[in-house]
Amino acid sequence: MGNQNIFQAECVVVGGGAAGSAAAYKLAKAGKRVLLMEKGKSLLESDFSRISGFMGCETSFQKAAGITVASKKNLYEYLTEWSKGDVNPKLISSLLDHSAEAVELFSEMGLTYSFYSDWVDSEKKEYYNGDMTWGPLHLINEYGPDRTDTVTNALRDAGVEILFDCAASDLLMEEGCVSGVKGCLHGSEPVEVQAKAVFLATGGFGNNPEMMKEQFNGAPLLNLGSHHNTGDGIRMALAAGAVLEQSTGICCNEICGATDLHNGYIFDDEFRMYNDHLGFAIYGGLAVDAEGERFINEERMATNPLATNGIPALSVGRMYVVMDGEYYEGCCTKGIYEYLGKPDWDYGSHLFVPVLDRAKDQFAQAEEEGWAIQADSLKEIAEKWGLVNLEETVARYNDLCKAGEDKDFCKSKMFLTEIKEGYGYYAFSYVGGFWCTLGGIKTDARLRALNAEDNPVPGLYIGGTEMGSAFGRTYYDIAATGSGLAIASGVIAAEEMNEFLD
Ligand SMILES: Cc1cc2nc3c(=O)[nH]c(=O)nc-3n(C[C@H](O)[C@H](O)[C@H](O)COP(=O)(O)OP(=O)(O)OC[C@H]3O[C@@H](n4cnc5c(N)ncnc54)[C@H](O)[C@@H]3O)c2cc1C
Repeated sequence: MGNQNIFQAECVVVGGGAAGSAAAYKLAKAGKRVLLMEKGKSLLESDFSRISGFMGCETSFQKAAGITVASKKNLYEYLTEWSKGDVNPKLISSLLDHSAEAVELFSEMGLTYSFYSDWVDSEKKEYYNGDMTWGPLHLINEYGPDRTDTVTNALRDAGVEILFDCAASDLLMEEGCVSGVKGCLHGSEPVEVQAKAVFLATGGFGNNPEMMKEQFNGAPLLNLGSHHNTGDGIRMALAAGAVLEQSTGICCNEICGATDLHNGYIFDDEFRMYNDHLGFAIYGGLAVDAEGERFINEERMATNPLATNGIPALSVGRMYVVMDGEYYEGCCTKGIYEYLGKPDWDYGSHLFVPVLDRAKDQFAQAEEEGWAIQADSLKEIAEKWGLVNLEETVARYNDLCKAGEDKDFCKSKMFLTEIKEGYGYYAFSYVGGFWCTLGGIKTDARLRALNAEDNPVPGLYIGGTEMGSAFGRTYYDIAATGSGLAIASGVIAAEEMNEFLD
């Protein structure tokens, strides 16, 4: 190895996404010699470059806007109640205590924020500012290169040394303590960074098929996040003696359903689904499993897709949504919200694509790819996809719709739309799309990676989506909690590393 590829630093941050950028900036501002290793050729390749925003708690921006719903008390109680025994409450408490600093740190770097209420009709502003799902959200105004150039420049100005196109692969250890990181620059040049403290924030294992299979029992899940997120941080920490937390989850795609039968990304450059038929997955209509039977209250995916859109894939595998031709037509011309008579369905009132006006032109593509069927009878659909009990299920479902009460899965009346005869039928099959995985290494409230005896591995910190102890199996339904907790983890890790090094 050439000398030019051996670096000295006091601390190393691996991964320049949400958590890593926060940590590197704070460490540099505290006067530490920080080196940031980032697999992408720029921060543009991180998921951080594409997020809408951060959840924040008691930030100066919320105070200025009069938003009080995002108090520590409200958020702590909400998150710990939601995740029950899956998380470390002390860590959640600490993450929330550091949340305001984290949001303000990115503002200091040059990012600016809006609130969800800034984007909606004036009469709904108060509602969204006071709502637990939307009130805590800081939308980042800068997107893509505007965002990542701003953050990259701020990191460099603060004194962070950045190695882009540099994939960390192993931790260096000396007598049980971290002593640096090994990696590879530009795909071929070995790199070694000697440092006493390391923060791993490599964004989860969404693009690691083996880990996905192991953690989710082979469930049909589609990664919508960066291909760089291959669980490297988790793998490195395990090799250094840390252990995995029990529960792992996914941050679900709240925009639409997903298919693994399309050869390419399921969103276009404007972030519209490449084929409008993906929309039906979150409309609350009849959904069945591989036997053609209902298995869930479909309303869950319609009211809370961020948290629940992956549940069908995790519990029964592929999900099939079945409808009649009139319902289909209504969604393509008026949109589902209007078709259902504008019910009390907040999420439906502001869907990303309110009317599926491109669907009809795109049907042939979905059919060719193998995830769409148009048929004259339910029997035809059942036979084609092996949904053996579909006809029986529809008969039962129609009875429940007529009675106006879902005795089987307790779905609200507003989503009980009969599957009518005489209009033909449509069916679509979906897998679970996710933005990132959640969970990994067991950490304490100071973000120290823990071993099987619950002792910290000296010098090793892990955060972002790979901190095992802040997320349960089901993602939180407060918008942008993932990135909100990720940036807070960066702040805590920086504080702790700073102290450790001193
Ligand atoms: C399109 C999209 C939109 C999203 N929107 C939101 C949102 O609005 N709100 C929200 O809360 N969440 C959102 N998410 C989820 C989001 O990914 C996380 O909340 C957040 O980015 C997690 O931060 P992180 O630092 O853990 O990971 P990331 O931001 O993904 O950063 C991880 C970084 O580590 C790098 N890396 C990986 N392996 C290595 C290695 N071996 N060596 C060096 N570097 C490595 C990666 O290249 C990446 O830059 C979205 C995800 C996607 C894909």
